[in-house]
Amino acid sequence: MLRYPDRLGEISRSSYPTALYCEAVTGSRSPFGPEDPEVILPLPAGMGQRLAQRSDQWPWSVYLRVLPPAGGWMSAGLLEALADLVERRGAGLLHLACGGTWEIYTTPEEALALVGELNALGLDVGSTGDDLRCVVACAGPARCDEALVDAPALATYLARRFLDEQQYPALPRKCKPAVAGCGHDCVRAAHRDLALIGVKRPREGRGVTLVVGGKYGARSGGCPRPARVLVPFVPVAGEEDYRVVGDLWERFLDVWSRLAGNRERVGDFLDRLGRDRILREMGWDDRGDLA
Ligand code: SF4
Repeated sequence: MLRYPDRLGEISRSSYPTALYCEAVTGSRSPFGPEDPEVILPLPAGMGQRLAQRSDQWPWSVYLRVLPPAGGWMSAGLLEALADLVERRGAGLLHLACGGTWEIYTTPEEALALVGELNALGLDVGSTGDDLRCVVACAGPARCDEALVDAPALATYLARRFLDEQQYPALPRKCKPAVAGCGHDCVRAAHRDLALIGVKRPREGRGVTLVVGGKYGARSGGCPRPARVLVPFVPVAGEEDYRVVGDLWERFLDVWSRLAGNRERVGDFLDRLGRDRILREMGWDDRGDLA
């Protein structure tokens, strides 16, 4: 017997109505309506509403995006607490979303109380709309012998420093960040809007390369588009160097926010302004110093 988990088996063990899933696969149109941008909670980001044509079939119209611990690390205790939470206040289903967040489906009535319980567990929501999305990181040195920098540690520093940017949509467009511990790039950082990749240089030691402008999707010219190098090397020997990396992100986000065209994604912004102009605006002198 083939032993491989089945998404339909998991869905059918939750409160999610499998009839709705079947309708989505076989019907002539999706049973889900367009996303409702109406803000129904006092949360600027981290939630959305996906209504179904028949609300009696799909009461869990609210989705919450939980910002997870970087690197995908979670203890059994945290998993159990989340399982209990989605069972009591949600559809009994947790979705590890492609963007790196955990999506929880719940009702408008339960959503705010659910966020309160997430906060009590040390978790919060964010990463929707035109904000800095979840800072994705690879597994890092906790289990990988290739790690040149501690990607989850650096991503945690950045996620905490830029938490407002993840929770208050005020950027020109969405910006998907990532941190990879080495050039193997297990998190596809090289196709993200704003990313760091661990590198090692013979005389300079370990550090990161800052790449920007990668994207997938319909507006990327029909194929995945790789990010390009903005700053080839920033030394990162340990936690004491994270601040400079964060300063670089801050300056880049500031320049993009000031000079971007209408809803201009990072890759298009880079095409239009060019690397040299962006570095000048950032006050980066290319010798490794912020002016
Ligand atoms: S990107 Fe490099 S350091 Fe990170 S998990 Fe993959 S191989 Fe390991």
